[in-house]
Amino acid sequence: MRTYRADLHIHSVLSPCADLEMSPRNIVALAKSKGLDIIAVTDHNSTLHGPVVRKLAEPHGIKVLFGSEVTTREEAHCLCLFETEVQRLAFQQFIEINLPDVYNDPDRFGYQVEVNEEDEIIQQVDKLLISALNAGINEVEATVHRLGGLFIPAHVDRPMFSLISQLGFIPPTLKFDALEIFRITDPADFMQKNKYLQNPALIKNSDAHYPQQLGTVFTNYLIHEPTLDEMAKAFKQEGGRKVVL
Ligand SMILES: [Zn+2]
Ligand SMILES: [Zn+2]
Repeated sequence: MRTYRADLHIHSVLSPCADLEMSPRNIVALAKSKGLDIIAVTDHNSTLHGPVVRKLAEPHGIKVLFGSEVTTREEAHCLCLFETEVQRLAFQQFIEINLPDVYNDPDRFGYQVEVNEEDEIIQQVDKLLISALNAGINEVEATVHRLGGLFIPAHVDRPMFSLISQLGFIPPTLKFDALEIFRITDPADFMQKNKYLQNPALIKNSDAHYPQQLGTVFTNYLIHEPTLDEMAKAFKQEGGRKVVL
């Protein structure tokens, strides 16, 4: 086993709130310069940039997980992560079915552009990606797990768009694989405030929207290989695998 450094919450130019410098090429170059072994580009309600980032990262030995930061009906952000293109496409379809017919105003929210590996614009996505899906948190969780993905509520203790801000607590019946705590939160402090939680796996990521943020916050995984399956086992501390904040 070895330690893999992972930042699993990164926004690209496809997210209206992210900087236009967050192109797939720049994301991979930054991940390399920060010594990251595993990354996930998790745009709001979209997985579209996963394949191009994976293609660009592969020659550098950086593993790319597919995924999205979904906004559930409760307006709680959740990271949904996948290994394969088949899973990604199925989840993208679920998002598109549940994304409301509200259109983006780039002057108000920012541009939502899909680009290719040369940084050339392929399309502007018309529907506003920061809307809440017509799907509640339990439905999103069940869909992610049916497809074999990992379900990780994002920045759970942040004062906006989090489980705690929206619901007041983390529902004990919610089947999450890990919890992402806010990047400035002390894990011991978090557990002290949320004693009802049963030994959850806690992780941190950068939630980078700007180049200078990428890789500044990360989590180490002691695992055999950089796969979603190994990370799931690290969350459960199977066979000595573990997550080190
Ligand atoms: Zn968020
Ligand atoms: Zn985010």
